[in-house]
Amino acid sequence: GLPSREALLQGLNPQQEEAVKHAGSPLLIVAGAGSGKTRVLSNRIAYLIATGRAHHGEILAITFTNKAAAEMRERIEALVGNRAKSMWISTFHSSCVRILRREATNVGLNSNFSIYDSTDSLRLITLVAKNLELDPKRFAPKAIQHKISALKNELIDDDAFASTANYNEPFEQAVAEVFKGYTQRLRQANAMDFDDLIAQTVYMFRAFPALAESYRRRFRHVLVDEYQDTNHAQYALVREIVGEGPQASELTVVGDSDQSIYAFRGADIRNIVEFEKDYPEARTIKLEQNYRSTQNILSAANSVISRNPNRPDKKLWTAEGDGEKIIGYVGENEHDEAQFIAKEIDRLQDEDGLRPGDVAIFYRTNAQSRSIEDVLVRVGLPYKVVGGTRFYERKEIKDALAYLRVLVNPDDDVNLRRVLNEPKRGIGDRAEGAVAALAERERTSFMAAARKADQAPGMATRSVNAVLGFVKLLDDLAEVATGSGAAAALEAVLEQTGYLAGLRASTDPQDESRVENLAELVAVVREYERDNPEGSLGEFLEQVSLVADADQIPDAPEGSSADAAAAVAEAKRMGVVTLMTLHTAKGLEFPVVFLTGMEHGLFPHQRSATDPKELAEERRLAYVGLTRARKRLYVTRSEVRSMWGQSQYNPASQFLEEIPGELVDWKREGTSRQVSGWGGASIGSNRYGGSFWGAGTARGTGASPTAGFDADVPAAVVRNRVQPQKEIVAVSVGDKVNHTSFGNGTVIGVEGSGDKTVAKVKFDVGEKRLLLRYAPLTKL
Ligand code: ATP
Ligand code: MG
Repeated sequence: GLPSREALLQGLNPQQEEAVKHAGSPLLIVAGAGSGKTRVLSNRIAYLIATGRAHHGEILAITFTNKAAAEMRERIEALVGNRAKSMWISTFHSSCVRILRREATNVGLNSNFSIYDSTDSLRLITLVAKNLELDPKRFAPKAIQHKISALKNELIDDDAFASTANYNEPFEQAVAEVFKGYTQRLRQANAMDFDDLIAQTVYMFRAFPALAESYRRRFRHVLVDEYQDTNHAQYALVREIVGEGPQASELTVVGDSDQSIYAFRGADIRNIVEFEKDYPEARTIKLEQNYRSTQNILSAANSVISRNPNRPDKKLWTAEGDGEKIIGYVGENEHDEAQFIAKEIDRLQDEDGLRPGDVAIFYRTNAQSRSIEDVLVRVGLPYKVVGGTRFYERKEIKDALAYLRVLVNPDDDVNLRRVLNEPKRGIGDRAEGAVAALAERERTSFMAAARKADQAPGMATRSVNAVLGFVKLLDDLAEVATGSGAAAALEAVLEQTGYLAGLRASTDPQDESRVENLAELVAVVREYERDNPEGSLGEFLEQVSLVADADQIPDAPEGSSADAAAAVAEAKRMGVVTLMTLHTAKGLEFPVVFLTGMEHGLFPHQRSATDPKELAEERRLAYVGLTRARKRLYVTRSEVRSMWGQSQYNPASQFLEEIPGELVDWKREGTSRQVSGWGGASIGSNRYGGSFWGAGTARGTGASPTAGFDADVPAAVVRNRVQPQKEIVAVSVGDKVNHTSFGNGTVIGVEGSGDKTVAKVKFDVGEKRLLLRYAPLTKL
């Protein structure tokens, strides 16, 4: 049965009740974090159904992420039961896919169109640009892609852009031409990119008013959560589905301009600011009571966000009382920081009966999770990484480790076959099958059979060459591994296999995050070598296997950030700590929150150094993070952090300074001075330069829309990285050299040239063959 009207209004404050009951005109609910916006939206939907004002099929609820959609469905299901199952509660993208699949024929597509992710899209754009003979150095495909995406989000299609572009501007001209070709090719391929999903739905509704009308009649109630994060195309879509005049559907939007954190995807706070202009008859309700957090937490968050310019001041209050002080901690390094976190969780379990499921740990970028994961594993605290896979389960990490395992053990068929065509090197299933058959027949390992690929029946010459090339590659890499150690081997693997190059060429933000995770893996190996000067690659791999297998908490299927809400719910139920990026944390709440890595250059991001708008966005992200906490809030940072395999001295985040001092109880204070504002001496633009990790020139377009996805990469960091041109030390026989692990030695032979120069060096520990490009070698 359905809950009574009274039950659905019970406990709501007068403004919330008004918002739930409101009927007729469009409704805008603007309010700060934790004031019950999402709760009101859910109750309102339940109320519409319970009072018979709407059938559940007439409701379209739109949220910004799949996680939020799942969470809302859960809340509504708790109120009205199974009806919630068949309701349209989804993201903009999934709603549009659903509509387009039904109506595809109307836009000249068939309903099984494919959806191109940004990698596919970049590949196609690169191809089109190449056919147009555009110089990729002058017109980076990635920059073109970003521009086209921005245009689509503004609902400017190729024709419209062609007629308005400034043809005296070479870049605009290039974009116009590529946009046209790209659009044609997408059509030929019966495909849409992500931006198309929204834009095409809007165009379709505009071109077929009767169709739009049918959706308006169907969805009599449209409700949008996190409205501050809609871009123009999404805004227009809402307008199309709602319609105008007396026939218009009822529109409810809720949002908080202080929590707008997706400007990099074209989100426009104006949509919320101008709502009242667009819908003159709209009713606006403000919610001012926060039900989530203690006063101390709220005061800290308010104090930080109040630094942002041009925002109306909000009066958010709570009846909760002051609560605990915020606890601050400055780690000596990221391990110390992580250890403090683990200890605190432990202490709270003992003293407060806290469960791990009550705790969330946030970080700015995905790669930061690794050091925290290591400590949690070591102390045996179960955890779950949301919106990402646990470090050692990430595809790129598994791939890299698979290579290393093969170098140690060429007969490891499983790992060998995992990377056989990863990255793609023209070894298809058939060739793999032929080699496997040969191995079977001769009862040898796959590697042994691969060495004789030319004898495998049924293999095309091209495949034979591809397989033999792969064998050669592995042999070369094995040499690096024995001669130069684990870290050099890993770096060589990533470079020489083309694995990194492939990721760098992609604009998929996930791929950018993969590069960052691999950098983190390099840091892990370097650290291992430092701590175990005698350790071999094999021993390193052994240790990693232990960490990776240490706990067997069931994990969400790989890549299912869609299930993040379910994952969070599961984490809470199972009583495990939740790890996530700040961006994924939006809309959620936890009794205990750790905000980690509060460091200048990391959070706020380096990128915001030169751009006040970016800094304001980072501050909103801080506000989002701080306001997730209900009872206890921790802010932590570390003085030294290894990034890209190097130690960085990071001063405190300015956001820490913006929290009133009397609210924070510092358990350990840093020794490094606070830097206010930008330009601190330690933040030279070269801080990431000189490392092995190169970003490739395509990264430098400055147009990367990557900040802050689940898969996040600090764009500024990326821009500052240099090409992986480690200078090759010129040595000749007789030279005295120093190797970071093997100590001093004498060169007794030199082979090869350029990148491939190998030096034979006699050390105390014995003779080593070192690939000079990678060996940490200096001439004495
Ligand atoms: P955010 O801006 O972070 O998305 P929000 O405004 O959507 O926050 P909710 O998540 O809806 O806020 O609510 C925050 C918390 O306060 C939830 O735990 C919710 O159940 C609780 N809450 C909201 N309104 C009330 C109320 N009237 N009485 C008791 N608890 C409430
Ligand atoms: Mg909310």
